[in-house]
Amino acid sequence: MSKIKLLSPRLANQIAAGEVVERPASVIKEVIENSLDAGATRLDVDLEAGGVKLMRVRDNGAGIDKDDLPLALSRHATSKIYQLDDLEAVSTLGFRGEALASISSVSRLSLTSTTGSEAWCAKAEGREMQTEVQPAAHPQGTTVEVRDLFFNTPARRKFLRTETTEYQRIEEVIKRLALSRFDVGFNVQHNGRAIHSWRAAQSQIEQERRVAQVCGPAFMENALHIDIERSGLRNRGWVALPTFSRSNADLQHFYVNGRAIRDKLVTHAVRQAYQDVLFHGRHPAFVLYLEVDPATVDVNVHPTKNEVRFRDSRMVHDFLFRSLHHALADVRPKDQILNSPEQAEIPSGVAIGEFANQETMAFRSPGGGI
Ligand code: ADP
Ligand code: MG
Repeated sequence: MSKIKLLSPRLANQIAAGEVVERPASVIKEVIENSLDAGATRLDVDLEAGGVKLMRVRDNGAGIDKDDLPLALSRHATSKIYQLDDLEAVSTLGFRGEALASISSVSRLSLTSTTGSEAWCAKAEGREMQTEVQPAAHPQGTTVEVRDLFFNTPARRKFLRTETTEYQRIEEVIKRLALSRFDVGFNVQHNGRAIHSWRAAQSQIEQERRVAQVCGPAFMENALHIDIERSGLRNRGWVALPTFSRSNADLQHFYVNGRAIRDKLVTHAVRQAYQDVLFHGRHPAFVLYLEVDPATVDVNVHPTKNEVRFRDSRMVHDFLFRSLHHALADVRPKDQILNSPEQAEIPSGVAIGEFANQETMAFRSPGGGI
């Protein structure tokens, strides 16, 4: 007798949700990324009970057509890539078409949107999607409302921490996203109280104001602004002086083409650049934006997309190390400048001569934010 059965779509979604929807903060990440992908310039985030009871994100982006609403909630349905080749040059934050399907399989989700005159609303509750979309009222853009996260998956709910902890994790995610898109205004409420209101920032001064709001004024007061381009790579942002080091790695924001990532290679390059100016056990603080040709970086490495793979990782390491080492030169004891960077310890095979090539190129980050 046959023992292998196809999973029901509902169960398949709930299993997939395990990868993407770990906690309220992961929901917020996916929902806000969708708004940014839709070209929103203003986001209103409402949270209740650390996001577990309610997460509502309203944007003024492109909106979703009536016929597309139910599709938006279906697995493997996306408007962002159509063929494999598109993945090579993907400039949106999302592309896997599974976030909303996953979230709706473990919550009560409503999606309300308009692209013009009439607004419509689609609802799904633990994957039981309402067959008909309902007429609704909504200004240009989209509202995603996620209630009662994990109401139907008690095993997952047990892993949730206190309301305060879950809220802090959400806040971390929002901060990371707010640093990736200065051109977007963010308003955040928790339990009916206005917590953050960050206006869209254009000029460098306005951007620095946002960095100060997000990372604290002390970071900005102790940060150097850098902007270095070499060989088609660009490294821009703010690095704290060694005197503003941290006891843990909590103030480290790194973006590749506008996408927040965590990467061992990057951490290594940064540590190396700070090596001779930081006390042992201290961590540098930075907000950095690396721009590379999208074709030289694979973003489809992990379902949450916060890891990437560089085609030429040595060159990236070398570039990061050198640009930061250079920026920190003024605060470095003079004899060390003379000896560096050739004496710095770089993993074997890293191309030292890379800086000789001075051609410059700028690449657009998703949505053109940076
Ligand atoms: P992905 O982002 O990978 O495409 P999602 O499940 O996150 O997959 O979203 C599915 C689709 O729903 C998106 O491709 C997009 O077309 C649409 N969508 C979701 N959120 C929004 C939004 N805030 N504004 C406009 N379209 C949206
Ligand atoms: Mg998405």
